[in-house]
This record gives sequence, structure tokens and C-alpha cells, in this order.
Amino acid sequence: MSDNKPSVLVVGSVAVDWVITPRAEREESIGGAATFFSMAASYLSDVRLVGVVGDDFPKQGLADLESRGVSLDGLEVNSEGKTFRWKGKYHDNMNGRDTLDTQLGVFEAFDPKLPEHYQDTEYLFLANIVPALQLKVLEQMRTRPKLVGLDSMDLWINIARDDLVNVISKVDVLTINEEEAMLLTGEHNLVKAAKAIRGMGPDSLVIKRGEYGALLFHDEEIFSAPALPLAEVVDPTGAGDSFAGGFMGYLARGVEPTGQNLRTAMIYGSVLASFNVEGFSYDTMKDLSIEKIQARFEQFSRLTDFSRAEL
Ligand code: AMP
Repeated sequence: MSDNKPSVLVVGSVAVDWVITPRAEREESIGGAATFFSMAASYLSDVRLVGVVGDDFPKQGLADLESRGVSLDGLEVNSEGKTFRWKGKYHDNMNGRDTLDTQLGVFEAFDPKLPEHYQDTEYLFLANIVPALQLKVLEQMRTRPKLVGLDSMDLWINIARDDLVNVISKVDVLTINEEEAMLLTGEHNLVKAAKAIRGMGPDSLVIKRGEYGALLFHDEEIFSAPALPLAEVVDPTGAGDSFAGGFMGYLARGVEPTGQNLRTAMIYGSVLASFNVEGFSYDTMKDLSIEKIQARFEQFSRLTDFSRAEL
């Protein structure tokens, strides 16, 4: 891989999580959709982060993002409130989870203002956050980015559906998980749900299916990316955001978003997500290398490689 690194801009939550899994628990776990996205994408492109934290946000989190070269010029530190907090508990099989608590904190009054030098970024990812804030960021771009991706979750589908559908209509790629795709469309069949979502605007759609991988709907085609079967999943929190970071980070290298390149991006997304779930927070994404990423990419290639046969 050459060292060509254009930029991707991400807006989303920067959070302190309390994660409970069947085997372990971590209170004060640094998280947030934009955090995981940034750590993952930082291996593939330059990253600019827009978000807000309170003065309770661990300094280590800022240092870790900076050590990965993530630009924090767009990260506001609001000393008048607390950082966004999320508490979740995973089911025994680690596939499902329940949200036990969400505290918006400084997000409640957040009014993102994009620094001048962010406004022409060519790749934009609107990670999980209040849909009205996603729209505010999109509207502040001076030139329409080459590619805009968006992620969301059940909470916003339930309480801010109109704003969400409005911002979805303006993006190129939506990444969403299986249950959310069904909740958003009322369809129980994924192919029908995908058709309904693409009818709302996005050209391409990624449906994330946890340990079963992810599906890409693009043109008339469907591509299936596996998840890597792992002996131990420590903490799935942020898998979707790390996937999005790998996916967008690869495309932000200036790769045309053709069907074939979107397929490759799906595998980079799956690679970064597979690293992320091997540890709490972003512990396992702090010290990766291009070599480790490429080696795991090869593992994915072997996982799905088969010969065409004729009977
Ligand atoms: P994922 O596992 O990819 O769905 O992402 C988990 C991250 O999403 C956690 O670090 C949380 O802090 C963050 N999160 C949870 N709920 C919300 C929410 N309502 N808005 C924004 N981010 C959230």
C-alpha cells in the first residue's frame, strides 16, 4: 500500500462508556462513535474529528487520538458540562446488547462549528449522533464532499425519525445494522429493507450483521463480507464505527467508489472491526501497523476464496 493519505472528516459522539460483558466489565471506557471511527480510519487516511467533550473526558483519550495523528481542531471542550455517557450490557452470546443508560451531557447544547480548514474535506462521515447535528455539519461544508457516509441507531429512528430521514436523503452511503434497517423501514426482509432505504436517497447501503459480517447493496449487486471467526470477543462496542472507519478510510485514499472498490472497502472495514472487538475500548487499535492490517486482509481473502467449478 502506498503512503497516500488524503482526509476524512468525522462528526459523532466522543464518549465515556460503561461496558458490561458476560466475562468482564469496564467503567470509564473511552468510547464514542467518532472515537472508534477515527482510530480505525487513522491507519488509512488523515482524520479530522468534530465533536464535543466535557472537562471530565480522560486526557488519555485526547493523547491517544493525537498520537494517531487525528486532528482535534474540531473537538470542543465544554467545561460547563459532562461528556456524553453510555452504559450497555451484552447478552451471553455477545451479539445483542441492552442500553442501560444514556446521558447526552454536553451534546444537548452542542452547536458544531466547522473550522475553516475542514470545510473542503473531500470525504465526510456523519457517525452516530443526533441527526440534526449531522445535518448541521453537512450544511457547513463549503463544497459538497466527493462521498458522504452516515450511520445512526435505533434511538434516533425512534425519537428523531423525520430529521434522520431528511439527512439520509442527502448522503451517498448509509451504514446501519440489521435490526435498525428493519426498524427504519418496517420490513422484515433485508432485501426489501435495502430497497426501501435506497429509495430514501443513498446510492449504496451497508447492512451490518455483527458476527455474521456485513452486506453491501450497490447498483444491482449484493456483496457479502464475512466477519472473522474469533476465538474470543472481548468487547464488541465500536465494531460498527471501526468498520465505518476502515471502509471510509480506504475510500478517502482517493479510490473511486466503484462496485469493486466498495467491496475492497468492505473488507478493510471488516479488518478494523475484527481488531477492535479483541479488546475493550480501542485498546487493540492503538498500536496496529499497515503490515498487521494487510496480514489480516489476507486472512479475510483466504476465508472466502474458492475456485469456480463446473460439473
Ligand atoms: P457501536 O458498538 O458501533 O454501535 O458503537 C458504540 C458507541 O456508540 C459507544 O462508544 C457509545 O458511546 C456510542 N453511543 C451509544 N449510544 C449513542 C447515541 N445515542 N448517540 C451517539 N453515540 C452513541
